[in-house]
Amino acid sequence: MNGRIPVLEQSVVVFSQNYLPLCKVNIKRAVVLLITNKAEPLNIGTPDEWQVTVTSPSLVIFVPQHIRLKINSSERVWKVPPVNRREVLRRDRHSCQYCGSKKHLTLDHVLPRSRGGQHTWDNVVIACERCNSRKGSRTPKEAGMQLATKPKAPIHPAIAFADRFWMDVQARSGVTGEHEEC
Ligand SMILES: [Zn+2]
Repeated sequence: MNGRIPVLEQSVVVFSQNYLPLCKVNIKRAVVLLITNKAEPLNIGTPDEWQVTVTSPSLVIFVPQHIRLKINSSERVWKVPPVNRREVLRRDRHSCQYCGSKKHLTLDHVLPRSRGGQHTWDNVVIACERCNSRKGSRTPKEAGMQLATKPKAPIHPAIAFADRFWMDVQARSGVTGEHEEC
């Protein structure tokens, strides 16, 4: 299964001291964490565990699929970001939540401000100019428009990663090829 991916493009899942999956790093970064004694191999008993060797002039190291940090560097301070254009664009993946357009994007208050709608994560979405003006001062329901997803505040990136990680483990979908940095 892993033969198709060059060793240096493999990724390793990093766990915190408390065994929470945090993120993926590439093999090079995992090796650095291991040889500087900042992390240790972790066997969580998944059946598709793999090992690779990375060679340098004098070093052969076995890199497991999962490593655990020995240092307490993972608990970074994280706050819910402010509700502004940049952060909402990021959450809504730069697309209109009504039609999916990626052009002429604006902020839309689901329940319009003129009707008491708040400027909060659960009431602000990205909408293109066309959808925004079509909706006007109505709710999506009144305008006969459907939101792609129910808006909510972003969650801690490590928690989002952990959710996806355990879903992946359950799905056993094999090679993901996805790389994310801590
Ligand atoms: Zn639109």
